[in-house]
Amino acid sequence: MSLYCFLGVFTFVFFKSLFAFVQEKMKSLMAVNLCRPTIQAADCLYENMATMNFKPVFEKQYRPVLIAGPCSAETEEQVLQTARALAALGVDLFRAGIWKPRTRPGAFEGAGAQALRWLQRVRQETGLKVATEVANAQHVSEALKQGVDVLWIGARTTVNPFFVQEIADTLGGVNIPILIKNPVNADLKLWIGAIERIYKTGIERIAAVHRGFSSHVETKFRNAPLWQLPIELKRRYPNLQIICDHSHICGRPELLAEVAQAALNLNYDGLMTEVHPCPEQAWSDREQQITLPAYEEMIKQLTARQLTTDNEEFLRSLDFLRSRIDDMDEQLIELLAARMEISGQIGEYKKLNNISIYQPARWNETLQHCLQKGTSAGLSLSLITAVLKAIHEESIARQMEVMNGRKGIELSGTEKSPVEI
Ligand code: PEP
Ligand code: MN
Repeated sequence: MSLYCFLGVFTFVFFKSLFAFVQEKMKSLMAVNLCRPTIQAADCLYENMATMNFKPVFEKQYRPVLIAGPCSAETEEQVLQTARALAALGVDLFRAGIWKPRTRPGAFEGAGAQALRWLQRVRQETGLKVATEVANAQHVSEALKQGVDVLWIGARTTVNPFFVQEIADTLGGVNIPILIKNPVNADLKLWIGAIERIYKTGIERIAAVHRGFSSHVETKFRNAPLWQLPIELKRRYPNLQIICDHSHICGRPELLAEVAQAALNLNYDGLMTEVHPCPEQAWSDREQQITLPAYEEMIKQLTARQLTTDNEEFLRSLDFLRSRIDDMDEQLIELLAARMEISGQIGEYKKLNNISIYQPARWNETLQHCLQKGTSAGLSLSLITAVLKAIHEESIARQMEVMNGRKGIELSGTEKSPVEI
């Protein structure tokens, strides 16, 4: 009897502990899955996007590809005068807007379909290929009828999937290269979505045009470049050509050369520049267009960069330096992991003693100390601040998990909902 009793108690205790153990494990797994974004969901960096195999729009051995022309085609004479001068400079593609998306009504809305004949004259007289902006089905049909070589989708159209789809439907089956500007707002998915819509029609010759993003923060640019977005786009689609429309990024001539060179340093494929024979009399984007001599001067100053080289000595030295960086990155990760481990221990300790997680004085002290140390070590304020804030945020999240049994808040507010995960 007592043996049965013992076995009964033993079995009960065993299964109870097993149950508690499994429950605990499940809880922690749930906490990981629900509260900590998984690698795939943690950041759009890891998202699975459709694979697209682009073909180059511009077959050119050396870079940059030069796209230039007025913001708007105004008169036949202005178009031809600009095109002749640009052809003499060896430009690859002549641009001119004929349907202009203007912010307010009443401004010059483009010369319309009549200007397609002017573009035809440009082709015949100069041999230049021509490009114009299309924003709806009617623009596409008319431009195709008149033999425009390349079409571009403007920033105000990329934001609207209905318009992009309408353009895609009208293009169906036509083999023409399309340039797709980024949307006005900093939304990489919207940019990619527009590219996908065009790609799905069977068009493979697509290039992305980076023209900057409107922002509520005043910057020296008309449209903030936010280089991280095109950098990420190129990481996902390495064979997608990227053109920098530095005119719309800068909004003023003084900045053009600097931004153009920055784009080439980042391995962009080409530049789109607004050039006008007499910018101060232009009918649109007067402040940002440059004269033909200024354009000539600017392109002379540019230095093209190659993605790689066959210079063995360079490649060896680069490999050596990169392997040092790889080691350091690993050390950084190990150090971060060790640091977070300690944050977790602090969390346990605070919990035991009912102490709040956030300690403003301590955070301020850490920040000040590291800013001082970092700047004297030659690091930029923005780097140290960004890194420390990320570490502090993660440390709080760790402690929150310890205190709540699961993470309660995410300071950046960018946490994905469990549904998305
Ligand atoms: C343009 O290229 O003239 C234009 C209207 O550009 P975005 O769509 O970049 O504003
Ligand atoms: Mn313009």
